[in-house]
Amino acid sequence: MKQMFINGQFTSGHATETIQVINPATEEILNEVPRGTEEDVVAAVAAAKAAFPAWKRVPGWERAGMLHEVAAKMQAHEEELTRLLTEEEGKPFEENEEEVFWAYDTFRYYAELGRHDRGKFLPAGDPDQINFVIKEPYGVVGCIVPWNYPLLLLAWKIAPALAAGNTVVVKPSEYTPLSTLRLMEIAFDHLPPGVINVVTGFGPEAGEPLVKHLDVPMIAFTGSVETGQRIASIAAPMMKKLHFELGGKDPMVVAPDVDLTTAVSGVAYSGLLNTGQVCTSSERIYVHESLFGRFSEELADFVSKLRLGNGLDRQTDIGPMLRNHFREKVEGHINSAVEAGAKLLVGGKRPSSFDKGFFLEPSVLVNVDHSMAIMREETFGPCLPLMPYKDLDEAIQLANDTQFGLGACIMTHDARWVKRFFEDVKAGTIWVNDPLTDNFAGPFGGMKMTGGGRELGQEGFDEFFEVKHVHWDVEGALKDYWYPYGK
Ligand code: NAD
Repeated sequence: MKQMFINGQFTSGHATETIQVINPATEEILNEVPRGTEEDVVAAVAAAKAAFPAWKRVPGWERAGMLHEVAAKMQAHEEELTRLLTEEEGKPFEENEEEVFWAYDTFRYYAELGRHDRGKFLPAGDPDQINFVIKEPYGVVGCIVPWNYPLLLLAWKIAPALAAGNTVVVKPSEYTPLSTLRLMEIAFDHLPPGVINVVTGFGPEAGEPLVKHLDVPMIAFTGSVETGQRIASIAAPMMKKLHFELGGKDPMVVAPDVDLTTAVSGVAYSGLLNTGQVCTSSERIYVHESLFGRFSEELADFVSKLRLGNGLDRQTDIGPMLRNHFREKVEGHINSAVEAGAKLLVGGKRPSSFDKGFFLEPSVLVNVDHSMAIMREETFGPCLPLMPYKDLDEAIQLANDTQFGLGACIMTHDARWVKRFFEDVKAGTIWVNDPLTDNFAGPFGGMKMTGGGRELGQEGFDEFFEVKHVHWDVEGALKDYWYPYGK
C-alpha cells in the first residue's frame, strides 16, 4: 500500500480503509492508498500552516533552485512516471511522455517567474510619499486535482503556488493517486516538511474538509462543473479565493478551404486524444456544407483504422476509458442521439477483442443537432458528432451556443475567418490549425460555466498572490486636509 504525505512523512494517518487503484486497460488492482479522513486533512493543513511563515520568506532565487531540483528529479524518473501514469490513467505511453515533460517543465517555468517580480512601484501623489504594491502568497492553498492529467494539472497548480511562497495541501483524484504519491517520494524530499502535503481519498471525505477548513484561504480546483458548484457553495460564506478550471464542450470549425487529409487527422486528434477525456476535447464538430459528405466519410474511415489497446503498447492510438461508468455515460449520449435521429457512421461499441478493460470504439456521428445531449453536455469520451453549417456567421453562432467557454478550434488558412473567429467566439483559448497545443507562457482557462481561473503564463502565477498596496508618507508631517475642517 502507498501512503499519504503529511509534514514530510509518509503515513496512513487516520485512515482505517483503503481505496484500490485499478488499471483501466486490464482491470487489475495496481495498488491501494489510504481512504483519507477529515483528521488527515486537519493534520496536513496544520503542517502547511506551520511551514508557511518560513517558506514565504525563502528568497526567490533559493525557492527557484528548489523547484529546478524538483524538475530535475522528475526528469531523472521520466520513464518510470510515464509508465505509472499509463497504468493508472490508461492513455497511450506517448501521450504520458508528453504529460511528464510538460509537468516537470512547468516547475522550471515558475521557478524562473518566481524570482522575477514581487509587485510594482507606483507614481506617488506627493513628492514626500512612496506607493508600491506587494504581491503576497495566500498561505495554505488547497489543490484539488482530477484524474485525466494527474501530474500535469497538479504541476499547473503547485508549481506557481509554491513559487509564489504558498504552502499546499493536495487532494489527488481517488482514481489516479499513485503518480502523485510517487512524485512525493522522488522529487520533493528536499523541500522543508509541511511545504507540500498530499491527502488521498474521496472528494466528499478528503476534499470537502479542505474546502471547509478556515486555515485554507484559497482552493485551486480542476474538475467537473457539478463539483465546482458544490465547492463554491461551501466556500462562499468564508469568501475564499476560488480558482476554477471546470468542464467544457469545445467546438471545432472546419472551414471550406481546408486540405481534407490534414483536417481529418487534426479533427480526429482534437476529439480523441486521451480517448476524448480532455477538458478541451473537440466535442462538437462543425463542417462547411460544401465538404460535409466527403469529410464525414473520410473521418469515419480514418477513425475506424485507429488502434485501440493498452497504452503500454507503443502501437496503441486509443487507450481505454477510465472506468465503466464514464463509458456508460458516453454510450448514453450516443444512444439517445441515435434514438432522436442521429446516424452512427462508425464505432460506439465495446470492442469484442478485449475481455478486460473499459474500451469503447471511437465513433463518428452525423444528423445531430443542438437539442441532443451529445451536443450540449460534456461527453468526455471518444466521440465525434458532426454538423454542417452554411457560412461563418452560422459557424460562430453554433460555436457560441453552449454554457461552456474553455477552448475553440478552427481549421482554415483564411485570415478573415480566423480574425472573426478569435474576436467573436467566447472561449479562453482559440486554436487555429493546431488544436489542443498549449504554451507555458499563454494563459489557459475558461469563460462562462467553465469558471474564470487561469493556469500557465503570468496570469496563472498571479492567481496565487494577493496584492497589498502600501501608501507611505515618509515625512509624516501634519496635513492641512485633516480635522478640523473649519480652521
Ligand atoms: P470531479 O469533479 O469528479 O473530481 C475532481 C476532483 O474533485 C477529484 O479529486 C475529486 O475527488 C474531487 N472532489 C469530488 N467531489 C468533491 C467535493 N465535494 N469536495 C471537494 N473535492 C471533491 O472531476 P473528474 O471526473 O476528476 O475530472 C473530469 C472533469 O474535470 C471534467 O468535467 C473535465 O472537463 C474537468 N477538467 C477541466 C480542466 C480544465 O482545465 N478546465 C482540465 C481537466 C479536467
